[in-house]
Amino acid sequence: MVYGDLLTRFCSICGKLESPEMPLVDNLCWDCYKARNRMIIVPKDLTMEFCGVCGSYKLHGKWVKPRGVEDPKLSSAMEFVEEYVKLRGSGSLKALEARSIGGGKVSVLVRAHGTVDSRIPVYDEELWVDVNVRSVVCPRCTRVASGYFSSIVQVRAHDRPLTQHELSIVNEIVEKVLSSESDRSGAVLNYRVEAVKGGLDYKFDNFRLARRVADEIHKRLGALIKESHKVIGFDGSKGSRISRLSISVRLPSFSIGDIISLNGRIARYEGFSGGKFLYYDLESGGRGSVNYRDAWHGDVSIEVVCRSHELYSGFVNSITDDDIEIIDSSGRVYRALKPSAFDVEVGSHVKFMVFNGKIIIVSRGK
Ligand SMILES: [Zn+2]
Ligand SMILES: [Zn+2]
Repeated sequence: MVYGDLLTRFCSICGKLESPEMPLVDNLCWDCYKARNRMIIVPKDLTMEFCGVCGSYKLHGKWVKPRGVEDPKLSSAMEFVEEYVKLRGSGSLKALEARSIGGGKVSVLVRAHGTVDSRIPVYDEELWVDVNVRSVVCPRCTRVASGYFSSIVQVRAHDRPLTQHELSIVNEIVEKVLSSESDRSGAVLNYRVEAVKGGLDYKFDNFRLARRVADEIHKRLGALIKESHKVIGFDGSKGSRISRLSISVRLPSFSIGDIISLNGRIARYEGFSGGKFLYYDLESGGRGSVNYRDAWHGDVSIEVVCRSHELYSGFVNSITDDDIEIIDSSGRVYRALKPSAFDVEVGSHVKFMVFNGKIIIVSRGK
């Protein structure tokens, strides 16, 4: 194409003359063409359903939680608009900011980066897009409000209450599982915890969550897990039965620091790790372990001899070849056997217990 004296073409809207740098597109200058042909296409009646209870919104028929960390309604509106606004030409769309404009509406600033027509170089276009926000309570929050939970994890210990240490481990596990699951699914997770006689009941509205919590407690504390299902109704819309999942999570009769008798040997229980109950043999001073299966189902008999909080404490007053004299805080004197597993010195504080009429030193320290 030759330009020169023949510069007679001009934009049919604004009259701007064509130049070699900016050839007309469909008889229009670029600015007029862009104004006539927007990159950002907004569907009619953009309406977003938003749950004010949990801050999630409905996207393509599913309730999801916004990824944004600020005001959930504004974050939801931005993600909603990014999803439903279309781009003409080629390029990308991004929601930049959002603000409430009253009347149940949120306005979202969208930027398109690209071009509406391949004959025009890439540029940016911005537009404030209004979204109607319909506030509703999502089905999940409705269920929770009505007290419905699909699964229950019952945490108990065998023949004893849970210790503070165990309670804090269990709570930590629940928090950890909830936060990792919500990161993954983006959905809102609800649970309720109830203190009941002998332990805690955790209620979830999600089978998977209940199973993960039970499994983590099993791994950390060596708990015995038993699942049971109960059919509680029928979902006509899905043609399936509705069942409730109960998981019994039973901790062993012994807890960390307790003195146990292991097939007759006296040991201190040290914790559960790698599928094994670990102990410290107070007779030999060696460390050992019992498999999860053997402890719960096998032939190893484990009995609690003395709870950790029931141990006596005192200090070593004298040591002879035969025994060790201990004095407790009330001034009472005890004659203990020499521990074979470790050394004690005069003046050191020790924990001890009475077992079969003998005084046995269990550990050093207060
Ligand atoms: Zn023009
Ligand atoms: Zn909700």
